[in-house]
Amino acid sequence: MSKTLFEKIIARELPAAIIYEDDLVLAFRDIKPAAPVHVLIVPKQLIPRLAEAQADDQKLLGHLLLKAAEVAKQLDLKDGYRLVINNGADGGETVPHLHVHILGGRPMAWPPG
Ligand code: AMP
Repeated sequence: MSKTLFEKIIARELPAAIIYEDDLVLAFRDIKPAAPVHVLIVPKQLIPRLAEAQADDQKLLGHLLLKAAEVAKQLDLKDGYRLVINNGADGGETVPHLHVHILGGRPMAWPPG
């Protein structure tokens, strides 16, 4: 099976502005930022989308969220931030590799578009 875009970034086959990495996750700046700060954090293990996560992924998913909060702190988003997971076509998912958007640097509107 061909690699997802994010697997290629993880493998350093595509460039990215990486800001955090550990054994399980990678965080890098979104190429088309939707806010002054827009970072994606992804599990290195391929889970196509949240709907396909399994009970075995519980620890990894917890790690992903805790690291998202750490990265947001590292980015100095003191006034707050938004985490977004787009799942499937109606959710706006365009890359089939689970990722959490970390958006900040401006007030976010609600409801989202
Ligand atoms: P989603 O629409 O939730 O699947 O989000 C995919 C995100 O990946 C979008 O915000 C894109 O701007 C971003 N993206 C696509 N290609 C790249 C890339 N090469 N490097 C960084 N971010 C990317």
